[in-house]
Amino acid sequence: MTSGIGYDLHRLAGGRKLVLGGIEVPFDKGPVGHSDGDVLTHAICDALLGAAGAGDIGTLFPDTDPQWKGVSSLIFLERIGKVLTQRELHIGHIDAVIVTEKPKLAPHFPAMREVLAKALDIKPQQINLKAKTNEGVDAIGRGEAIAAHAIATLEP
Ligand code: MG
Repeated sequence: MTSGIGYDLHRLAGGRKLVLGGIEVPFDKGPVGHSDGDVLTHAICDALLGAAGAGDIGTLFPDTDPQWKGVSSLIFLERIGKVLTQRELHIGHIDAVIVTEKPKLAPHFPAMREVLAKALDIKPQQINLKAKTNEGVDAIGRGEAIAAHAIATLEP
C-alpha cells in the first residue's frame, strides 16, 4: 500500500463560481484560477499522483496550457484515474479537509462524494470529506482564500 498527500489554495474573488468537489456551491465569491479552481479536486489529484509516484497536477496539466483554461477539474481526476488503472493501482481511501471561513459545506458533502467517486470509478464510501474554518485568522480567515488538504491510499 502507498499513500500520498495533496494541498491546494486559491484566492477568492467576487463574481466567480465556487466549484468544490465538482459541484457548484452557492456563494458570493469563487476561486481565481486557470481551470475552475476547484481546490478540493486539485488536492485529491495531487494526493493520488503522490501515492502513485506519478508527479503532480501542475506538471501533468500546466496552467500555461490553453487547453485547460476554464475546464472542469473533474477532467483531471478522470485522467488520473485512468493512469492508476494503467498502472494496476486501486484506490483504497481518500480523506480530505477543506479550509474556508464560509460557506457551510457539510450539506454539500454527499453530492461532492457522489461526483468525485463517479469521476474515479470508485464508491462514495471510499471518500471522506471534512470542513474547517480558520478561526478568522490569516488570509483564509479573512475570506480571501480557500484551501484543501487531501490524503489518498493506493493498493496494488
Ligand atoms: Mg489549484
